[in-house]
Amino acid sequence: MKTVTMIMGDGIGPEIAQATMRCVDATGAQIKWDIQQAGTDIMAQTGTPIPDETIKSLERTDAALKAPITTPVGTGFRSINVHLRQMFDLYACLRPCKTYKGIRSKYDNIDLVIVRENTEDCYAGIEFQKDTDAANELIGWLNNHGNKKIKPDSGITIKPISVSGTERIVKFAFDYARANGRKKVTSVHKANIMKHTDGLWLEVSREVAKSYPDIQFEDRIVDNMCMQLVQVPELYDVLVLPNLYGDILSDLCAGLVGGLGMAPGGNFGTKKAIFEATHGSAPKYKGLNKVNPTALLLSAVLMLRNMGFIAEADRMENAIAAVIAEGKYVTYDMKADRNDPSAVGTQEMANAIIAKMQ
Ligand code: NAD
Repeated sequence: MKTVTMIMGDGIGPEIAQATMRCVDATGAQIKWDIQQAGTDIMAQTGTPIPDETIKSLERTDAALKAPITTPVGTGFRSINVHLRQMFDLYACLRPCKTYKGIRSKYDNIDLVIVRENTEDCYAGIEFQKDTDAANELIGWLNNHGNKKIKPDSGITIKPISVSGTERIVKFAFDYARANGRKKVTSVHKANIMKHTDGLWLEVSREVAKSYPDIQFEDRIVDNMCMQLVQVPELYDVLVLPNLYGDILSDLCAGLVGGLGMAPGGNFGTKKAIFEATHGSAPKYKGLNKVNPTALLLSAVLMLRNMGFIAEADRMENAIAAVIAEGKYVTYDMKADRNDPSAVGTQEMANAIIAKMQ
């Protein structure tokens, strides 16, 4: 029996978490859930968005699944998602984007994997608020040391990209490609403009690629990459990206395969992995039993595979694919018309998936 931390999150988190636990249980995987809280709901009750008990659970269990958590804009706590990634050094975010028969998409042949660096770049959390002493001091220093002037009324976000951080994420992408029968890794950057960060990223990517002669390697500038993904997504296989581009292109690729409700993910460190959907807490749908549970369900499939529950993972993915292909017991976002009254709720879609596994 293995133990899995289930972080219930907030917004639509608790309802898709419930649906997911029921589906995982129906696979027969020998899993004991350790249910924990994080986010705005628990913050309102206890004053902390991430209780110590949740962290202790993550430290002791075999794996973790996390439902989405709201990050209030501009005020309140810093992103718990970013905090957890940094705390457990979950440096690699893996987001497979695959078309399932029956989804609403202009494309029917997509099978891409996004590997996003999770700890560096503008997301490192090194920020200086406009008009603070620290911001003013930094602006003064930069204006004295560089040949470009920064306006005094600026806020500043720092973008660190390191050799070691780039090396490990590009290796992760190549190792994933090799272990999963993938043929090509594309490194995405804006090295033509940001020579000392993205330029370094590209140089290290090229260096790492030399150790994997069995996997093709190429690079793309991020803006061109966006256009290529919309026009010829079938040309791409595994994409490796710095944090910010990885975040944005994850949503773009989710759009190619039917929307955010379809996009799963996993965050990997050297010791721990936390699996979660690409989408957020969609607060306007909270408590309505309306949203698509598939992204978190497919994240659970990734988790089961990672834990060695291969047959159980296959059973669950096949059941999800069968329900989507039938198109009957699916949520509103998977119907041709989003107002189709025959759309079912989150729990009813989960019930249909469970029925396929029995
Ligand atoms: P969101 O992903 O929560 O929702 C955007 C829209 O996508 C929704 O309004 C809805 O139309 C659709 N959508 C999302 N999930 C869906 C689902 N399962 N089924 C059907 N439709 C779905 O993005 P947002 O509104 O920008 O963010 C809301 C909050 O979530 C913010 O506070 C943000 O910071 C946070 N967030 C959290 C995570 C995470 O926990 N990993 C990830 C992204 C955003």
